Amino acid sequence: MAVAFAAENTLGKLSKWLRILGFDTISDSGDHGLEFFRSAPPGRVLLTRTRSVKKQIRSDRLLFIQSNDYRQQLIEVIRNLEIRFEDVRPFTRCVDCNQIIECVEKRLIRGKVPDYVYDSHEEFQRCSRCGKVFWPGSHASRVMERIRQLFDSEQQTVDENVQ
Ligand SMILES: [Zn+2]
Repeated sequence: MAVAFAAENTLGKLSKWLRILGFDTISDSGDHGLEFFRSAPPGRVLLTRTRSVKKQIRSDRLLFIQSNDYRQQLIEVIRNLEIRFEDVRPFTRCVDCNQIIECVEKRLIRGKVPDYVYDSHEEFQRCSRCGKVFWPGSHASRVMERIRQLFDSEQQTVDENVQ
């Protein structure tokens, strides 16, 4: 499922997490509110938690986020769009600029990561926009665990509702 998002600036942490999951997510860089949503490329799911935006943007692609907590917000998005674990592509996108990250030759990132990281890893990826370098590490496995929990808890809640 190729779902993409446009999120207002109050949803920064949610936007980061959607990118960690691999979803194309653009954020309002300032406080443009309605203007941001009106100029967002068509086809994106619009994410807001501002009531005036909800009132004024009449779109079936607008998703009004209820929670103030990004973990709950993420669950709201997953539930509303029926996103499954199979739909996510973790660590394929830069969390800061939404760019797809690309594999990069090890020799090209010498000096751009700590020496111990350089010495202990063979595979690196880089964001072509901001230059941030990524590598599989303990942080990635912890994040992966949280992603699994996210879908596990979703499943449990659904089961509870059914019974
Ligand atoms: Zn980047």
